[in-house]
Amino acid sequence: MKKFFFILFFSAFCNFLHSQHDVSLELLTKHVYTLADDAMRGRYAGSSEGYQAALYIEKQFEEIGLTPFENTDFLQAFYLTNNKKCHNIIGIIEGKDSLLKNEYIIIGAHYDHLGYKFINDKIDVYNGADDNASGVATLIELARTLKKKENELKRSVIFAAFDAEEIGLLGSRYFSKQIPANKVKLMISLDMVGYLKQSKKLYVKGVANIENIKNLIKNIPFPQSSTIVLQNYETSILYATDTESYAKLGVPTLHITTGMKSPYHTTKDDADKIDYEGLMTITNFMIDLIDTLAKQNYLSPSGKKAHKNRGLAPFQAGLILNIGSNAGVLQKTAFHSTKLGFAIAAGPYMQINTKRIAIRTEVLYENKTFSFPQQINYTSKPIKITSQAITVPVSLLLISNLIEDSFYYYAGIGGFYTYNFHGKNAGKRMDFNKDINHHEGGIQSSIGFSAYKVNIGVTFRRSLSPTIINTPSVKNRSVYFSIGYSF
Ligand SMILES: [Zn+2]
Repeated sequence: MKKFFFILFFSAFCNFLHSQHDVSLELLTKHVYTLADDAMRGRYAGSSEGYQAALYIEKQFEEIGLTPFENTDFLQAFYLTNNKKCHNIIGIIEGKDSLLKNEYIIIGAHYDHLGYKFINDKIDVYNGADDNASGVATLIELARTLKKKENELKRSVIFAAFDAEEIGLLGSRYFSKQIPANKVKLMISLDMVGYLKQSKKLYVKGVANIENIKNLIKNIPFPQSSTIVLQNYETSILYATDTESYAKLGVPTLHITTGMKSPYHTTKDDADKIDYEGLMTITNFMIDLIDTLAKQNYLSPSGKKAHKNRGLAPFQAGLILNIGSNAGVLQKTAFHSTKLGFAIAAGPYMQINTKRIAIRTEVLYENKTFSFPQQINYTSKPIKITSQAITVPVSLLLISNLIEDSFYYYAGIGGFYTYNFHGKNAGKRMDFNKDINHHEGGIQSSIGFSAYKVNIGVTFRRSLSPTIINTPSVKNRSVYFSIGYSF
């Protein structure tokens, strides 16, 4: 607490030196300390402490005099699949131009974080001061100043504190469906803006999404101690913020952040480490930016999109289920193949996509059966052989043009390795010294299509190495119908 008061004193002093727009360092500090307090228990989406955080933000919006979106309530409830209730807090300053007020600029900052954990029966809280109490504090104070100059704003500006970002950008996705995408001229996410002093950089990511914005930003004053880094696109496939919910709808977006300087997603992301002066600098910058953008006669999308928002994600992972049949092919005898048996294989897969080519790797638990004559001349009844194995196929997929942003056909070739670890031969436990080889390998081909998160196809697999010991002419061959789901 001592530190807190020191910062307040210090901040009042700096406020006097720096401020261009009467941004209160004291309030910025108070918001971060309140939201990132241990009492908020890490603001997990759907938790009662998350709701307390929502009420705090609601109170700020109310005091500032924002209007609840569509005149209902600042708090917008939505539900998780486990029925837990989450809340976005949405306020608006309506534009003053009779036409342009129907165009929206949305500024979002998620307020949820990761909750808490127990270490040796002691609670350890993910306070999420940088991620993202910093963004919410900036959002609130930005709203306060813009409300005072609302008569200058032609476009409508929406302030959105989003819930459930950390568990899948759910709050922003929920709200993105409430305004037709073509009316949203720009969506900005303030996410992790608390480390300006350490990073010396304020990143503005996505400037290629919107016409002329680079020039507009260059004219905004910014202290010389740090630089504004303009990045054309958000490129990281590992890190996503609420912009993604809008980018997927074709809305131009900007992610504003001081980068990954904080103890990201650890329990050390605390309020005393935040650069509050930096928050003030960023709030001042945001005021100028929104003021400028809300006044422009035209705010047009460039039509350019980040690769990761062009429909096909660069990285996919999911689960795949294969159901089909298996047989041993007899190559040097009169019989074409053994009797068919049932085969099933299931497991996780991952796929790396480029524009035309993808690489897919699967790790499958496989269960195959086939019937095999005890003697090659088929005088006795065939016996049933089953084997359980781990199979790892790797294939190169040629993919078609995207239809409707997420539908494509594919054709693939590749190879696989199988490790048979258990099996039965005529009901008896398989003897890996006598009956079946542990190791198998071969080639495979596949065709199919992918639509949104689902892919459906047919896979042909053929062993090049013998399945049965001492009978090199018997090689497995399987055909699978496969269905995959990517997360
Ligand atoms: Zn975040």
